[in-house]
Amino acid sequence: MLVLLAEQMASIASAAEAAWPSEGCGLLIGTGRRIVTVTRVMPACNLLEAEGNDRFELDPAVRFAAERAVRGTELRVVGHWHSHPDGSASPSATDLAQAWEPELIWLIVGTAADGAGRPQTVQMRAHRLDRDAGRVFAVRIEVAEKRACHAARFPT
Ligand SMILES: [Zn+2]
Repeated sequence: MLVLLAEQMASIASAAEAAWPSEGCGLLIGTGRRIVTVTRVMPACNLLEAEGNDRFELDPAVRFAAERAVRGTELRVVGHWHSHPDGSASPSATDLAQAWEPELIWLIVGTAADGAGRPQTVQMRAHRLDRDAGRVFAVRIEVAEKRACHAARFPT
């Protein structure tokens, strides 16, 4: 499970829409294993933006900065997000071929133009990619506020 604040989801959606018609991307920092909670979303440039609208390469400088920022803390780089300007939120063949780190969560944002030609976020899905097996596993996304509300109503 991937837990995000509504505000984090909104900031990712805005960045994805701003990147349209190219793919946008960013890093997710957080904590937890089975339940991964995002504590920070770091914006990053897509280095392949000029090479088409079906690929991304997250700026490695941002990854290095993130690894430095979490060193010695309980936080880690838990995954990344990128957008698909064709509106799909499933990993592409290119994504699967680039999934070097099986522990990372891939949050994919489907963006598409509305009737007036303005980019809109149409869906968000999270996955884990097993490159060697060529398989994709769905990861449930939960909004932190909703989760907190549920915990208050049904204390354990
Ligand atoms: Zn993709």
